[in-house]
Amino acid sequence: MKYAFFNGKIVPFKDAKVSIMTHAFNYGTACFEGIRGYYNPKKKQLFILKLADHYERLLRSCKIVRIGMKYSVDELCDITLKLAKKNNYHEDVYIRPLAYKSQEKIGLGLSGVDDDFCMFLSPFGKYLDTSKGINVCLSTWRRIDDSSIPARAKLTGSYINSSLAKSEAVENGYDEAIMLSMDGHVSEGSGENIFMLRHGRLITPYLADNILEGITRSNVIRIARDELGLEVEERSVDRSELYVADEIFLCGTGAEIAPVLSVDKRKVGSGKIGKITKDIQKIYFSAVRGDIPAYTNWLTAV
Ligand code: PMP
Repeated sequence: MKYAFFNGKIVPFKDAKVSIMTHAFNYGTACFEGIRGYYNPKKKQLFILKLADHYERLLRSCKIVRIGMKYSVDELCDITLKLAKKNNYHEDVYIRPLAYKSQEKIGLGLSGVDDDFCMFLSPFGKYLDTSKGINVCLSTWRRIDDSSIPARAKLTGSYINSSLAKSEAVENGYDEAIMLSMDGHVSEGSGENIFMLRHGRLITPYLADNILEGITRSNVIRIARDELGLEVEERSVDRSELYVADEIFLCGTGAEIAPVLSVDKRKVGSGKIGKITKDIQKIYFSAVRGDIPAYTNWLTAV
């Protein structure tokens, strides 16, 4: 973390600091993104995955919680490229832009509070074990509901919900938690969307089941359809369907494609990584490093 973008310019990372009275620090009033950059050593090139899509989602999050954004998607992409070039990492990176209520102000209202935008970038490896697979549990914490905190907006404050679920899972010996919505439908992982294979069909919770509208989720839908000829069914999923699924995987920018070996101690399929999961992983990992021509439009070269 050498340089950050802060107060409208690129500055040394150590100088990017906010006050303890900042609205966002006190109330969780910030929207953010998590973006991956993949380094291709053969091409000596860093590729940023789905850059514009992340900023389109950031602008949607800002709109929902009334955070003003002075930059357009194109300008945000441009700032990201400048910051990535300046940091000059020759390894995989994680990019974290944040739009936040920057004013030093006591009081909860969202309108009339100053906003700002900042970003940092850090070297980043694996978030979950994608090669061995993971063991998950159903969380005792319910996923935030759209009627309390909108799940489709990626808000810092919402991540208390995800952190409670993730901690509980890890403290109990699991790798990750799956959360149910208030109505009992399967929603998503603490930081990933979920897919299952049943009777040869790929199924994922639909958007109104309080999921974050994942960018990896749509990448998977495209790979499944175009490369494997599988239509994806988007619908509500019951908890017990997970217990009888043939394959399950989680997906997200950080998690990539993470095969699930067990749910609540029940083996998924044979308890080994499933064939469709493996096929999707293989295509995904090549695509994100710029090794499949049909998917290079997912990437922005730094
Ligand atoms: N759900 C949650 C709660 C997340 O934090 C993430 C990661 N941003 C995802 C799903 C996956 O979204 P994406 O594929 O866009 O990273």
